[in-house]
Amino acid sequence: MLEKKVETFNMNRVIDEFDDMTRNADQVQKQTLKEILEKNQSAVYLQNFGINANTTDPEAFKALVPLVTDLDLEPYIKRMVDGDTSPILTSRPVPAISLSSGTSQGRPKFIPFTDELMENTLQLFRTAFAFRNRDFPIDDNGRALQFIYSSKQYISTGGVPIGTATTNVYRNPNFKAGMKSIQSLCCSPDEVIFSPNVHQALYCHLLSGILFRDQVQYVFASFAHGLVHAFRTFEHVWEEIVTDIEDGVLSSRITVPSVRTAMAKLLRAPNPELAETIRTKCLSLSNWYGLIPALFPNAKYVYGIMTGSMEPYVKKLRHYAGELPLVSHDYGSSEGWIAANVRPTLSPEEATFAVVPNLGYFEFLPVSETEERPVGLTEVKIGQEYEVVITNYAGLYRYRLGDVVKIVGFYNKTPQLKFICRRNLILSINIDKNTERDLQMSVESAAKRLAEEKIEVIDFSSHVDVTTEPGHYVIYWEISGETEDDVLQDCCDCLDKGFIDPGYMSSRKCKTIGALELRVVERGTFRKVQEHFLGLGSSAGQFKMPRCVKPSNVKVLQILCDNVVSRFFSTAFE
Ligand code: AMP
Repeated sequence: MLEKKVETFNMNRVIDEFDDMTRNADQVQKQTLKEILEKNQSAVYLQNFGINANTTDPEAFKALVPLVTDLDLEPYIKRMVDGDTSPILTSRPVPAISLSSGTSQGRPKFIPFTDELMENTLQLFRTAFAFRNRDFPIDDNGRALQFIYSSKQYISTGGVPIGTATTNVYRNPNFKAGMKSIQSLCCSPDEVIFSPNVHQALYCHLLSGILFRDQVQYVFASFAHGLVHAFRTFEHVWEEIVTDIEDGVLSSRITVPSVRTAMAKLLRAPNPELAETIRTKCLSLSNWYGLIPALFPNAKYVYGIMTGSMEPYVKKLRHYAGELPLVSHDYGSSEGWIAANVRPTLSPEEATFAVVPNLGYFEFLPVSETEERPVGLTEVKIGQEYEVVITNYAGLYRYRLGDVVKIVGFYNKTPQLKFICRRNLILSINIDKNTERDLQMSVESAAKRLAEEKIEVIDFSSHVDVTTEPGHYVIYWEISGETEDDVLQDCCDCLDKGFIDPGYMSSRKCKTIGALELRVVERGTFRKVQEHFLGLGSSAGQFKMPRCVKPSNVKVLQILCDNVVSRFFSTAFE
């Protein structure tokens, strides 16, 4: 990883700048749009819609340029991937393309990545850090245990580097200096972050964290799933990690030469004292409750995205975190950052994000049955749900992100929002309409029955089975223990009743949708699903479990179906 000079970070200045910007959110938005359009005026895409120096104000822009989805931009981005360096979406050729894993949308997509997106990322990190540090100050010269992974970057046939958005960020020369300036230097050597083998990287992240245990100020993964996965893995490998520390020799499971060499420098000599401390701590824990503070006594919080599709992992994370606060990471996507968590003391359930007005030009499309026009950043209404529409410096113009957010208030003049869900329906057979959030809520309510038996849902997914007549919903559950069939039957009924969408309930009552089926899968099945996606090039750090598997995803369906251990059909509507 290349390094740049470290800028000094001034918490109060960053907060003051954010306050100024948000007080003038409307002007900042207009200025940002003007800059984006002036910079990219020569792009064929904008020229085709008649954008010129006189049409950079929001009204003219909105009148000329249509709302689009990723599908509309696909042919343009494909030309860029194929090496066409003419000004297509941006005036200058983009230095890289981000490949979204597609776990949330069911298919991978390419998104332009530019220096401005990198600068936006660092700005967002600085802003969020300033607010976090005001509430949870961390020590200078501390470190962060960060479960981050840079998956492979490859060069397209057209000569453009392609990688996941996080890979493009971690490989950027400004990344390390940016992290250092916000006191968030990783514990692990760069070789671990860039390891071609994510399992070995995870083991080394854990080991590095323990070697720096007194310095660790916070523990981070982009998504809560990554944090839970890390500490679940620790439960299995901790004795091996302790042996490595005791002997000063790295486990033979680490085979990547660059990683071995880098870790050998950290693990210089036997450290039986540290090994004994960790062993005693681990043995004294009850069911691993409070593992994170036990391992990292000076950690001030645990940080990662815990909202939206990550909510199901919060309970387990809280268990590992014990008394340590869980701080929700900010809101963004491969397409760009949108909003920062400026109220870090709120729990994941209450977390909100303040839109950062200079990261792009934002519009909000009301979520309703009727065709409505999008409104500007400062025109949104509290309590209303909207789909986010982005115009950014990287060639996306009036791009529908597909995320639904709810406005819960304002920070100065900029909206504070809550992430609700992805807009697309995941479960629908006829008139029924269920989103990822609806599925999540149904699973949450059914999991309460399981919790009475002290068993948790480790992970879940679903699919619509229309091979039977009538079609029905199938829910896959991986659970943490064994239980009686009647408990699972109750859970199955509860899942069915948990979908409260009127279209679903009426279809169930008149049997145009069949009984919901709960399929319990063997332990480790969802790990296999994750590995399948990693094998396709998705990044371990950005991974989100697909909550609905489309029939076209034969491989994932096969993994799930091959591992079914028991099946139940709902009797809720009999
Ligand atoms: P990716 O395509 O991998 O970059 O993932 C971006 C998507 O992750 C967003 O479009 C959201 O659906 C989801 N996401 C990002 N940040 C958050 C957040 N703070 N809370 C909930 N979901 C989020």
